[in-house]
Amino acid sequence: MNLGILGSGQLGRMLALAAHPLGIRPSCLDTRDNPCAAAVMPYTKADLTDEAALRRFAEGLDVVTYEFENVPVTAAEIIAETVPVYPPPAALAAAQERRAEKKLFQQLDIPTARFAVIDTADDIAAALEQIGTPSIWKTRRFGYDGKGQYVIRRLADAQHAWDDTKKAPAILEEQITFERELSIITVRNRVGEIASYPLTENEHRAGILRTSHAPATNVDAALQRQAEGFAHRILNHLDYVGVLAVELFQVGANLLANEMAPRVHNSGHWSIDGAVTSQFENHLRAVCGYELGATDARGAACMLNLIGNTPDPATLTGFERTKIHLYDKAPRPGRKIGHVTTVTNDEPTLDRILRTIQPVIADAADG
Ligand code: ATP
Ligand code: MG
Repeated sequence: MNLGILGSGQLGRMLALAAHPLGIRPSCLDTRDNPCAAAVMPYTKADLTDEAALRRFAEGLDVVTYEFENVPVTAAEIIAETVPVYPPPAALAAAQERRAEKKLFQQLDIPTARFAVIDTADDIAAALEQIGTPSIWKTRRFGYDGKGQYVIRRLADAQHAWDDTKKAPAILEEQITFERELSIITVRNRVGEIASYPLTENEHRAGILRTSHAPATNVDAALQRQAEGFAHRILNHLDYVGVLAVELFQVGANLLANEMAPRVHNSGHWSIDGAVTSQFENHLRAVCGYELGATDARGAACMLNLIGNTPDPATLTGFERTKIHLYDKAPRPGRKIGHVTTVTNDEPTLDRILRTIQPVIADAADG
């Protein structure tokens, strides 16, 4: 099986690391110089809008997937003319644009935060009137790790956001007072079988994911079913193949969908060490036409992102029951450069170990 990956970041790198043992030969294409995925598979440097390069890349491949959601939809469509591309390009289109994504959620009866659409300066006052404050301004495209987002408390904040983003189309979203953030990672294969990981609890700071705890504690069967229900509707509606992540806000016993990612997701990294089958392996199984692997957790797991900077590997190896994943990326403020995952048999042990890790990581990183 020859697998092509569009994109070359850490998600591609971890997909490749999961591909080799399955006998899948990965290769990737992207525009970057010396990307971290190039260390573990052949890399083609080309523009994602270079039609000839995309066609050359597709030659000899059996299936193509992508590892970031800002792959131009046209790139996926060009490749799909000759080689199957999973997840389907329609999923990419929906996830790239916040209005399209929200519309899809509404169409599938998946609850979301109330929102208003901003296309021109004339829409701003009406949007504030409709949604109220505090609210969150989000550019519709190219947002990640909280980039392109502004907390809006008064009209002047909205004017600032509009100018600061060079008048980029946006949505204004109600600020949700949630109990916690969760995510559901699901996977659907080519014959429509679906498997879901246990709900994961996620902690963000400054818009960036810091930790994921799985299985999330205090999750009853109804909450897990609710989350799986949202994901299943999206998967089946799009005739989706691969891993899909849906980010959720919990408010009381109810869930709201924040956004979806048509790819392996940072909040699923714990599954490499903490689940029977990792999200990366299951994504590969799905897109390559194989059966899915079991998604059960092996214990209580917590993944901590290494952001900005990291203690040296020798220090990381000293952590009890903890696995290290470095991405070979240069340190830079706010940049995800690795993660560690602790897996234990019970929550008290997990708590105890995390208390020894967290201060060391926080000292090295930016927050
Ligand atoms: P990423 O791609 O890293 O997941 P993003 O930049 O696409 O992030 P969101 O997921 O929409 O952006 O928002 C990032 C974080 O900001 C959320 O995980 C949540 O903590 C907070 N946030 C976003 N929208 C809301 C909201 N409507 N109410 C409250 N908090 C919010
Ligand atoms: Mg998000």
